[in-house]
Amino acid sequence: MPAIDKETCNGCRICQTYCTVDAIEFDNRKCYIVPELCTECYVCLRMNVCPENAIYAEELVGFYKQFQHVISDPVENHGVTGVTGRGTEEVKTNDVSGRVKKGWIGLSIDMGRPGLGVYLRDAERVAMACAAAGFKLAPQEESPLAALMPDATTGKLEDGCLDYRLLSVIIEGRCREEQAKDVFRALLKVEKEIDTVFSVGLISRVDENGNCRALEFLDELGIERPHRGKVNPGLGKPLSID
Ligand code: SF4
Ligand code: SF4
Repeated sequence: MPAIDKETCNGCRICQTYCTVDAIEFDNRKCYIVPELCTECYVCLRMNVCPENAIYAEELVGFYKQFQHVISDPVENHGVTGVTGRGTEEVKTNDVSGRVKKGWIGLSIDMGRPGLGVYLRDAERVAMACAAAGFKLAPQEESPLAALMPDATTGKLEDGCLDYRLLSVIIEGRCREEQAKDVFRALLKVEKEIDTVFSVGLISRVDENGNCRALEFLDELGIERPHRGKVNPGLGKPLSID
């Protein structure tokens, strides 16, 4: 993890302006990094901002520390999925991967952005609330968070990881259309119980008439429709035909 050498630090506080989540504090004319707040994003190191070269990297000890760094540092490559950033393609390649099929709705719950970070205990709360409402959480080959989830049917994470903070993390999965409103209701409830923010990517197949069931569900629940979206027109020589 990053650390600041007290002897070398001149107290200029430049590094504080670069920290993504306010994890660098100042006391007695020196800056120091608070381990419980640091997400291991390495921005302070990568930007090379310290005029005294006082910021250095200590060894990342233990799986959770390494996980924290790989997910928080956007230039790292995730070992299982092989994808940089947070280690997931979400449904950007759905025409090939077929993750969200007809009759299903996908969600990509993006937690901690911008600039707040997310403790894994809050990610667990959201994952468990969704799972209890019928949401099927994505397996490890699709979503890095599943590596910390011994049982994807519940969304419960390993106890040892809960106090680790990430710059952001994505909870992914899908449910049948009939269960989508229950999952949305669960999200509306759990958002009041966590100490960070999330945004929800709603993934839906559009039928041959241009209708989108997911948007109709939002109308029925009184949730405002999104103002922007991404379209996958299926140009990727689709391997998924259903
Ligand atoms: S930028 Fe370097 S010298 Fe300045 S406060 Fe941070 S660690 Fe200390
Ligand atoms: S690694 Fe990231 S979170 Fe930790 S002190 Fe550096 S900039 Fe802040």
